[in-house]
Amino acid sequence: MQSMTGTIEISLSDRVDALRPSSTLAVTALAKQLKAEGKDVLSFAAGEPDFDTPEPIKQAAIAALKAGQTKYAPAPGDPETRRIIAEKLATENRIPDVTADHVVISTGGKNSLYLLFQALLDPPSAGKQPQEVILPTPAWVSYKPQATLAGGTIIEVPATAANDFKITPGQLAGAITPRSRILCLNSPSNPCGTMYSPDELAALAQVVAEAAATTCPELVIITDEIYEKIIYGGIEHRSIGSFPEVAHRTITVNGLSKAYAMTGWRVGYCAGSGEFGLRIAKAITKLQGQLTTCIPTFIYPAIRTALTECAEDVERMRQQFAQRAELIHERISAMPGIVCPKPTGAFYVFPDISAHFGKTTASGALIDSAQSFAKALLNEKLVACVPGEDFLGSGPNCARFSFACSSEQIEQGMDRLAAFLEGLN
Ligand code: PMP
Ligand code: GLU
Repeated sequence: MQSMTGTIEISLSDRVDALRPSSTLAVTALAKQLKAEGKDVLSFAAGEPDFDTPEPIKQAAIAALKAGQTKYAPAPGDPETRRIIAEKLATENRIPDVTADHVVISTGGKNSLYLLFQALLDPPSAGKQPQEVILPTPAWVSYKPQATLAGGTIIEVPATAANDFKITPGQLAGAITPRSRILCLNSPSNPCGTMYSPDELAALAQVVAEAAATTCPELVIITDEIYEKIIYGGIEHRSIGSFPEVAHRTITVNGLSKAYAMTGWRVGYCAGSGEFGLRIAKAITKLQGQLTTCIPTFIYPAIRTALTECAEDVERMRQQFAQRAELIHERISAMPGIVCPKPTGAFYVFPDISAHFGKTTASGALIDSAQSFAKALLNEKLVACVPGEDFLGSGPNCARFSFACSSEQIEQGMDRLAAFLEGLN
């Protein structure tokens, strides 16, 4: 098409035109920008720990740099680091039949997930049925775009605040069809802040095993356990890949961003069990070999240090998150018209704020969606949260508040939120 300036307007791919930008990253960037402009913004947007990376982890990377570990590494990652990850998965997560050869290290859990969707899904084509990705919602913003980019069709299974945003085995059974290819789980959950108990996971595993034995032999579970260490509600974290009936069709995704406060380092990994796990590792190594090669080489020793020497740091941060979870939940759930499940894992609360839809703010803005709620809260009270629309399901009734910030900020932010709600008419 000819543009006004007379040059040809060059088109982009349909794939990228259809892609929505990440709303979590967008709100976080906006809050940072407003702060940089000198505005007194209290941000509850960021999905990253406010803590610094523990010192021994930094020192390990510095030493590796100084020792000249600056060349390419094998595409799936340095063998010793993969061995340590495999050992962690086998002992801590009780995942069977997992060795260094099953582990692939990538640039963030986000990248591991992307590679997995690419390795497992095909777009519908002549003679090929659409491949369905079952996604309990609300769900983190990137699963749907990533699965869709790979050609998958998202089948949402909606959960509600009343059920702590967890789906039931009956709901899962009802969503499975002969076209089901992937069940995508995330416990503890971003954005919900809730998690499945071992018994609840066992029941979901049972449904998958039964479907796999009858209608869906190709059904695979991708389980994103990136928040596994940030738990505080008395519920034990259990990896669904540890249940024998589904172990050999489960791929566990994890990363160092959250537990070790290493978001900017970009370290994620995944592994499956047995024969299928090896095939998956080979497939995503092939993809990675054509896409990114490997993560920066001097980071491998830092991963080893994190996984073997930093349990005390993880515990120190966990305790802080636990206190903040208590504080923010107490404050927010006491506010009028708010329904908020108690957080038990990760560092988010996801209150249902829809009782306020239809009201007008003190400055005259109409609140008719989570988007307009978050926008008005930022404009009028300088509090940033992520509106729930892109988390799907009942997300549009909710807003995500991350409590990866100080208790003082939580107190102040909740004071402002309470004043905002009081001003609604
Ligand atoms: N999964 C979930 C549920 C997340 O919240 C995040 C954080 N953005 C990721 C995966 C990816 O994190 P990273 O790429 O930093 O490992
Ligand atoms: N996972 C974080 C969040 O949900 C970081 C941003 C992103 O990757 O989406 O806010």
